[in-house]
Amino acid sequence: MESTEKIANFAPHAQPTSVHEVADRLFPAYTIDGGRVHLAGCTLDDRLFLKVTVNCSHGSIGFFLDSAAHRLDDSVARRLGLEDTCQLEKPPQPAEAEIARLAELAERMVKDEFGDAPSGNVSSPNVLNPDVLNPDVLNPDVLNPDVLNPDVLNTAEQARPQVELAALWCKYARGKLRFTIGERSADLPFSDWAAMLVPPPFVCPYTGTKTFHLGATSDGRIVAAEQIETCVQSGRRLLLADLVTCSASGKLVSRELAEVCPVTDEDVLCEEMVECESCRQKVSPQSVASNRCRACRQPRRLAKDDPRWARLQDAHPHARRWRRWNVSETASVLIFNGSGLVKQILLVLDKDTLEPKHLAIGNRLSPTWKTVEADRLAEVLGK
Ligand SMILES: [Zn+2]
Repeated sequence: MESTEKIANFAPHAQPTSVHEVADRLFPAYTIDGGRVHLAGCTLDDRLFLKVTVNCSHGSIGFFLDSAAHRLDDSVARRLGLEDTCQLEKPPQPAEAEIARLAELAERMVKDEFGDAPSGNVSSPNVLNPDVLNPDVLNPDVLNPDVLNPDVLNTAEQARPQVELAALWCKYARGKLRFTIGERSADLPFSDWAAMLVPPPFVCPYTGTKTFHLGATSDGRIVAAEQIETCVQSGRRLLLADLVTCSASGKLVSRELAEVCPVTDEDVLCEEMVECESCRQKVSPQSVASNRCRACRQPRRLAKDDPRWARLQDAHPHARRWRRWNVSETASVLIFNGSGLVKQILLVLDKDTLEPKHLAIGNRLSPTWKTVEADRLAEVLGK
């Protein structure tokens, strides 16, 4: 085994080596409206790789091993910056035993592949003692557990190879970005090889939107800025999901300031709602013509087999005394219109409970209706 003192130490030339450099790499990606970003904790751990160069009579072959003695894919080695390194005076941390362990594994792999092992058998690195492998050290997404290519190494045949080893130290970055706007903040964890570190997108916790542009709603929530709009009515900055377009005014407004018209099922600013002169329910102005809502303008004859007739009779048995009933409905009320020989009755009932919402009596010879208190319903119906 080669003494670790003879193994030189290197590090990728381009990798960030300080928290400040990590910040410089990440921060410019983000736009924070009215706020800022800083690092809330960041560590840069040194992880060991080994560069193995085998010199034999046919030339030299080089490859990289991770700390689990797996060979790195060339593209991964390039992205880690292992081919563009600068020499370190000493290892960044006491690691003599770790270097020695990896060096021994590397030399054994080379020896086995060249058929020069003491046992005389050619073995695969796959049979290396799994106890010495530490998969936690590596990001499995970027590493290739490929083994030495025996086709390449076998070209060296029985020539006794000379093995050169170099320790390579790559920084692994782990930390949190903290976005602060006003009194609130939101964290975004990151972890990757420092050489490969790219700004991760912020995932808006309220909309799931991935973004690099953050803003705050008026109630202080830090969200994807693309999802914020201003309520025209209140001036408050809200999530798009909390806004509706008023069908009467066309304004984008807070859902809290709007109602759903029971006739058109459209969102309408509360202050834009109007009262139907017939059923006295609040409805959208679009549903009204000649002062009456669409439901009141389009009654249908109430047939005896209509379930609404059964409901009306169950709740108000005197209803059968009236000769004829018409009915219409909105999302919230049933509108019954009963006719006698001369008299008429208008009965607006809650659709779920059949509680009276409005009650009026009229005369078939006159267009005028007289509102009656709801507690007189039984009395009026019975007449
Ligand atoms: Zn109406």
